[in-house]
Amino acid sequence: MTHARTEQSASADAFDRALGVIPGGVNSPVRAYGSVGGTPRFIASAHGAYVRDVDGDEYVDLVGSWGPALLGHAHPEVVAAVQEAAARGLSFGAPTLAEVELAEEIRRRVPAAERIRLVSTGTEATMTALRLARGFTGRDLVVKFAGCYHGHVDALLAAAGSGVATLALPGSAGVTAEVAAETLVLPYNDLDAVRTAFEAHGPRIAALIMEAAPANMGVVPPLPGFNAELRRITAEAGALLIQDEVLTGFRVSPAGWWGLEGQAEGWTPDLLTFGKVIGGGLPVAAVGGRADVMASLAPLGPVYQAGTLSGNPVAVAAGLATLRLADEDVYAQVDATSARLRGSLSRALGEAGVPHAMQWAGSLFSTMFGPGPAAAGARDYDAVLASEHWRYTPFFHALLEQGVYAPPSPFEAWFVSAAHDEEAIGRIEAALPAAAAAAATAERLTA
Ligand code: PLP
Repeated sequence: MTHARTEQSASADAFDRALGVIPGGVNSPVRAYGSVGGTPRFIASAHGAYVRDVDGDEYVDLVGSWGPALLGHAHPEVVAAVQEAAARGLSFGAPTLAEVELAEEIRRRVPAAERIRLVSTGTEATMTALRLARGFTGRDLVVKFAGCYHGHVDALLAAAGSGVATLALPGSAGVTAEVAAETLVLPYNDLDAVRTAFEAHGPRIAALIMEAAPANMGVVPPLPGFNAELRRITAEAGALLIQDEVLTGFRVSPAGWWGLEGQAEGWTPDLLTFGKVIGGGLPVAAVGGRADVMASLAPLGPVYQAGTLSGNPVAVAAGLATLRLADEDVYAQVDATSARLRGSLSRALGEAGVPHAMQWAGSLFSTMFGPGPAAAGARDYDAVLASEHWRYTPFFHALLEQGVYAPPSPFEAWFVSAAHDEEAIGRIEAALPAAAAAAATAERLTA
C-alpha cells in the first residue's frame, strides 16, 4: 500500500506549489491527472522498472516517460555516456561526430531515412516534415486521421488523441480557421474516406501523415494492408507519405513499426519522424526520408529549419547509447513481457466480468472497456470515444494504490521496458484482480 494522498502528502504540497506558478501545475497536460482525478505523483527518482515519488513510495512504472525508457530508467551505461558527454561540454552550436553516428545508426535500422535532420522534440519533427512536404510539392493541404496525435503542431491538433482526447477537446483554441482548413481529418482505418478525399482534393494534397500504428487514442492498430494502401494512394496522387514513428520508432522492433510491416511488404514512406527512444530520455527527435526531399531543407534548399540545441551532444550521447544497447534480445524481452501482461490483464478483467478488448501494436498495448470493443475491437477514434473509458478511473487508482503506475489516461498506451523483470511483472499481476474489480463496479458519471 502506498501513502494515501492527503493534504499532508509531499506530492499534494508540491502540486499546490506548482499550481501557483505553472499553468495547471504541470508542464504537459496529461501529467495533471485531469481525466482520472486525484493528486499527480511528483517523482523524485527512477531506476529500472520503478519510479519513486517525493513521499518515498515506489511504483512499478508502466509509463516509461511516455516511451523513451525502452531499457528502463537510468540504465547505467546510458547514464555513464551522458556523464562523459556532459563532462566534455553541454552544447557547442557546432557539429559533432556523435550526431553523424546517431544519424547513421538510425539509417542502418531504417534505410528509407536516407538523410536525417536531428531536432529536439517529436513536435518539431512533425512540424518540419509538414513544412518540408509543402515546400517540396508546392501544395498546401495535409491529411491526418482522427485520434492520431503528432505533437502540438497547429495544423495537426484537429481531432488529435493523447492529451487533447484526455481533456475532451475538439482541437485547440489559438489555431486559426485558415490553418485548420488546410488539414483534412479522416476516420482511421477507413480507406474509402481516404480515396474520397484524394479524389476530391488530390492535386492540392502535399502529404498524408499517419501514426505508424496509432497509440495516442489507446492502441488502435492499422488493419492489414491499410498503411500499404496509403502508400499507394499518396504515390499515385504525387503526395508525400509521412510515417510518424515518434512513439513506435525503435520501440516495437529494431526498425520500429516499419520493421514489422513496410519492410516485409516491400514499401517505404517518403518521410519518417522519430523521437522518444532515439533520445533515451533526453530531448532528441528527427525527421528523415528520401534524399531528394530532404535536400529541400536549409542550408541545401529553400525550406527553413533550425535549432540552437538540435543535436545537443549530451542528448545525442543518451540516444546513441540507448540504441546501441537496444539489440534483438531487448525487443524479444519487451515483446514477451507485453504479451504476458496483456494475458494477465485480460484474464483479471474476464474474471471480474468486465467486457473489454486488449488492443496492441508490437509491445504497445491498451485496454478498451465495454461490450462494443469486446465484440469487434475499436478500429477508429469514434469507437474509442464510445467505449466505456470511464471504467479506467477506478481501475487506474486501484493500481496506483497498490504501487503500479499506469498512464493517467485511458487514451494512452502502456509501456513496458527491458527492465521489467519477474519481480516487477509479479507486482503488476498481483495488483490486477483488485483493479479489475474496481473497473467492474465503476459507475458512469453523467454531467
Ligand atoms: N508523434 C507521436 C506519434 C507522438 O506520440 C508524440 C508524443 O507523444 C509526438 C509526435 C510529439 O512528440 P513530443 O511530445 O516529443 O513533441
